Amino acid sequence: MKKVVIIAISTVFAFSSCCDKEKNTEENVIVKKDTCNVSGSEYQTGATLWFQKSAEAKAVYYQTFNFAKRVLNERLKKEKFKIRKKKPKAIIADIDETVLNNSPYNARLISEGKHFEKESWSKWVNEKTAKALPGSVEFMNYAKEKGVEIFYVSNRSIENIEPTLENLKKEKFPFADKKHLLFKDQTSDKTERRDSVLKNYDVIMYLGDNLRDFDEKFKYEDNTARNDSVTKYKDLFGTEFIIFPNPMYGEWEKAIYKGDFSKSDTEKHKIRVETLNKN
Ligand SMILES: [Mg+2]
Repeated sequence: MKKVVIIAISTVFAFSSCCDKEKNTEENVIVKKDTCNVSGSEYQTGATLWFQKSAEAKAVYYQTFNFAKRVLNERLKKEKFKIRKKKPKAIIADIDETVLNNSPYNARLISEGKHFEKESWSKWVNEKTAKALPGSVEFMNYAKEKGVEIFYVSNRSIENIEPTLENLKKEKFPFADKKHLLFKDQTSDKTERRDSVLKNYDVIMYLGDNLRDFDEKFKYEDNTARNDSVTKYKDLFGTEFIIFPNPMYGEWEKAIYKGDFSKSDTEKHKIRVETLNKN
């Protein structure tokens, strides 16, 4: 029994950032060990490790940008034969986990036992050290060579414009200027910002890691409805909408908790397990 307690205490020490409140009794030490290890950071650790370390994640980004290039070429070829010249062409792209990799921020939250907060996020953005995702810079510069402009429509806050511009420039993204960055002011709904581009441009493609990067018609509170909406519009994926994988966060996760992230780690762990399909 003594050995068990020692192991439990040392585990608590390792996860002390999220376990401080409950280490008064032997029973609590053991309970909290489970809570922190299984339901807290481990859930995020797996997703972040996959995103950062798996060669498969890298391959998926290369694959998707290679595919986007093919779609772009096909689209431009068709346009060449149109007699009447239309508006100039543009691509609308999300930034986070579409072209910039913020997984180190996630890794920091995990190692510190913290959750997303505006302050820590802004601190990360101000470091301007997010790296370009595989294939993203090449694709964007290819589109530029073909005469297509890129608009970065992001839900980063407008206060984050300056450091983001510097970060994009550092990573050699084209169109890193204020005209081409449309950030969140009042609402996370990107429709108005997309429409402001559509007024003057023929938008030939949308890139994102979240369905709402494409259209608000995908905005639903639960994952069944979200999945049904994708089935309904399945022909748009790979033709107009190009999507990237994000196992770390997104509207899919929000929907699991019915929009309530304030639940404890233990409660959220329970909900996640209950939500899994067992058949
Ligand atoms: Mg994103």
